[in-house]
Amino acid sequence: MFEQVKLAFANDGLEPVIDVATVETHYGKHHVAYTKAFNDLVEKAGLQDKSAEEILSNLDQVADETLKTGLRNQGGGYLNHNIYFEQLKPASEAKKAPEGALLAQIEKQFGSVDKLKEELNALAASQFGSGWGWLGKKADGTLVTYKTANQDNCYSLKLDSVPILTLDVWEHAYYLKYRNLRADYLKALWDLIDWSVAEARYNG
Ligand code: MN
Repeated sequence: MFEQVKLAFANDGLEPVIDVATVETHYGKHHVAYTKAFNDLVEKAGLQDKSAEEILSNLDQVADETLKTGLRNQGGGYLNHNIYFEQLKPASEAKKAPEGALLAQIEKQFGSVDKLKEELNALAASQFGSGWGWLGKKADGTLVTYKTANQDNCYSLKLDSVPILTLDVWEHAYYLKYRNLRADYLKALWDLIDWSVAEARYNG
């Protein structure tokens, strides 16, 4: 049984960057719905003993096309939101910058953390329609930035990457407060991103 990651804050804990109504709807409605739908499909497919990452990495083994598409969309919706919500903390609590191996790798590849943020924001802002911007780590330890459409991720797309950070650019993530200003949401979101979570993922 797949469960939503527990929030490290109350629904209004991300104010004013992310408003209480957005958290209530995003985590309390959208993520709830993805999780329920994914659990139903996993049961139907008899895949209860697999992790979400394993299921999404092996969709080609699901013969039924409807079931395969459902698992890809609902499973991605379930897992991507766990990755997203786990990395968010109230601005007063979030670790504002990376240290150690992750910082060294960012500086080596991007020059600085600010440069990485700029690149990721531009990438996420340019995603046409719904999707996600990602910072990932390849098997050789190098970092990679990319974007995905809908609920796709490195597992369903079989990319050589594990997630380090993700930026949700579905309209439901920002539209109540930021309306059409996706770039403003992305710029503000960094105040809530807890780099200790990114470090744990990178070092893990
Ligand atoms: Mn979302």
